[in-house]
Amino acid sequence: MIKSDELCLECRQEYPLNGKDFCKRECEERAQINAPSIYKLSNEGRKFKDISNQFSSSWKHKNTPIPNVYAVYKIFPNNDLVTKYNDYRNYVENRHGFGYKGRPFPKGNENRTMTRGNEQRRFHGTRMKCFLGIKTDTLCSNSECSICGIIINGFKLSYEGPRSFPWQKFGEGIYFSGTSSKSDYFSKDTKTHNSKKYKAMLLNKVVVGRAFEMLEENKDMEGSPSNYDSVVGEPGEKLNHDELVVYKECACYLVI
Ligand SMILES: [Zn+2]
Ligand SMILES: [Zn+2]
Repeated sequence: MIKSDELCLECRQEYPLNGKDFCKRECEERAQINAPSIYKLSNEGRKFKDISNQFSSSWKHKNTPIPNVYAVYKIFPNNDLVTKYNDYRNYVENRHGFGYKGRPFPKGNENRTMTRGNEQRRFHGTRMKCFLGIKTDTLCSNSECSICGIIINGFKLSYEGPRSFPWQKFGEGIYFSGTSSKSDYFSKDTKTHNSKKYKAMLLNKVVVGRAFEMLEENKDMEGSPSNYDSVVGEPGEKLNHDELVVYKECACYLVI
């Protein structure tokens, strides 16, 4: 049996089996009871490296230096959100059959295969009013702290009314990007601690399903076209960076 290179996130005593976060049932149950919660990952582990790599290799804004990744946390949303997400993912999978027999990915690396629901890992930058991940691991209850709000309550369409957010290029939805520097733009709050500057960003699992590709913005969109599950802004002449928009709250949840 291959073991993970990351200690059990709950007891920090034993190495779980590869691909698992917890060493035993009790630890998993304790984490479920404590959810929503966040667990700091070891800076030496494979997951930390994997995520730092995704962050730095997708940093496209050449004029801004790539920030160092200081810490990575694994987020466990409450069970209700996880269940809704999994149900939605199954629903999308049953409509289109992406993960069935590992269909190859349409673009990019040919060795990649599609996952159930065409789930992908995308960044989301937003406001943070507390020092989560910088000098505290405790979620705050400030209603203006969107990072904690999302971790506790999940993504809400109503956070992001189109009229108050003129940057929403594809109407009222929940926006993600595969480009870390694009999401960084929306991580507005820089925190200073011990004279160093920090920012936070969420990396999320998103059910992309069947994506409708757009080459230019359309602020009047009211959801994805029928038989599609999401809208993808493709970089090109009109758009600078990739964007992914889902119009259902259950389509996305937090992984990191
Ligand atoms: Zn354990
Ligand atoms: Zn907070």
